[in-house]
Amino acid sequence: MSINTQATVAVIGGGFTGLAAAYELSKQGIKVTVHESEPDIGGLASAFDVQGEKLDRFYHHWFTNDLHVMQLIDELGLNDKVSINPTNTGVYYANNFFKLSTPWDLLNFTPLPFWDRIRLGLLALRARRVKNWQELEDKTATEWLKQLGGDKVYRIMWEPLLKGKFGSVAEQISAVWFWNKLKLRGGSRGKGGEERLAYFKGGFVALAEALAERIQAQGGQVILNSSITSLQPVANHWQLQCTTGEFTVDQVIVTTALPITADMIQSWASPDYLASLRRIHYLANVCLVLELNHSLSDTYWLNVNDPSFPFVGVIEHTNFERPESYAGRHIVYLSKYLEHTDALYQMNADEVLDYALPYLQKMFPALQRDWILDHHIWKARWSQPVVEKHYSRLIPPEQGPKAGLNLCSMAQIYPEDRGTNYAIREGRSIGKRLAEKIKHT
Ligand SMILES: Cc1cc2nc3c(=O)[nH]c(=O)nc-3n(C[C@H](O)[C@H](O)[C@H](O)COP(=O)(O)OP(=O)(O)OC[C@H]3O[C@@H](n4cnc5c(N)ncnc54)[C@H](O)[C@@H]3O)c2cc1C
Repeated sequence: MSINTQATVAVIGGGFTGLAAAYELSKQGIKVTVHESEPDIGGLASAFDVQGEKLDRFYHHWFTNDLHVMQLIDELGLNDKVSINPTNTGVYYANNFFKLSTPWDLLNFTPLPFWDRIRLGLLALRARRVKNWQELEDKTATEWLKQLGGDKVYRIMWEPLLKGKFGSVAEQISAVWFWNKLKLRGGSRGKGGEERLAYFKGGFVALAEALAERIQAQGGQVILNSSITSLQPVANHWQLQCTTGEFTVDQVIVTTALPITADMIQSWASPDYLASLRRIHYLANVCLVLELNHSLSDTYWLNVNDPSFPFVGVIEHTNFERPESYAGRHIVYLSKYLEHTDALYQMNADEVLDYALPYLQKMFPALQRDWILDHHIWKARWSQPVVEKHYSRLIPPEQGPKAGLNLCSMAQIYPEDRGTNYAIREGRSIGKRLAEKIKHT
């Protein structure tokens, strides 16, 4: 059967989901256009300039078992851009640092009595043995973790992390979400049990740019600064109103956060359908990025298990990617997930730095203000869907309420949590399915 090359598809959003979908469609000779509202490509994985090198606005790495991304990189012929490095993971608890890079480090985690350290180790192993995530859907992470490891392990190890990441909704988080995190992180290890993570030369955005170039080479289009304000069904077509004009296409794939999608179709979709798109709660994220002339420590990923500290993690990116990539500067991210109404989310870069610095100096007493050569603030309103109990019931189907409207967003990824590996998996998969459908019409 010959391909209907006259069919046109609009992809809304130029993050990894949208780019992966457009890559598959254009590969099949289908006329596809990606509309991205921002001046830059990459969405949550977009970047900014540090000393002539692109740096992710929000810290990013891949696990070595992120196979969908590795497969795409291989297909694009970019394997030489991937570096896999051992990384140090640690925990800050009660004014002390503890290494947690290998299973052996667990045995030295003195905040827990010896038998609780063993329980903590066994918990991770037992969690990885769960094969059927459905059996966890009815449990919160809190209930499940207490059941597996006991109250003390929960209070010292898991509760601060859950609260740090999800704040006031921490106790609503599903056991499925937590199980998946334990499984993934535990699966990205070398032979000695040490964690190994992967990065892309030039930042994750370099992969997004390579994908955009390939889409264009295959006959597709990527339009930046093109914000879609409304999607109207007209006869068998879709009319897109956007800041760059009006377009009519046969099919649409929307990859934006679900409440944004609801705004685009609110003039005609049913109140029940709109409510279902607005039902999932999303947290925002603030990342303070510091460019330093000294390193803070040799740890890449430091979980902060101190509830008084206003950030959940201190991520020293240059303990993963070399400082030489950024003219010798040491890059540190301070990350906080929060409600978009939180006062911290409204602060500018100087205000966040003034607020964060005393806490950071308490952790690293040698840190002087003049170590900070530059600082930046990045905010994302739609950064993390809150994965509650029975989340599977909240996920809207891929097919929208009218033919030709397709939804593929990070909140629909489940039982895994959102991440670029799954954005690529889902984007490619919907792109392939739609191409097949177009071929047969
Ligand atoms: C702090 C943080 C750390 C992370 N760390 C990692 C990590 O280490 N590894 C990893 O793999 N993943 C990580 N992620 C997750 C990863 O960034 C996302 O899962 C992934 O980038 C999502 O891609 P997406 O295309 O689905 O969504 P997005 O990247 O959100 O893309 C959606 C796009 O739609 C655009 N858009 C919105 N409205 C409109 C409109 N009206 N018209 C047109 N375009 C519009 C947006 O500008 C955006 O570019 C992290 C995320 C955060 C916030």
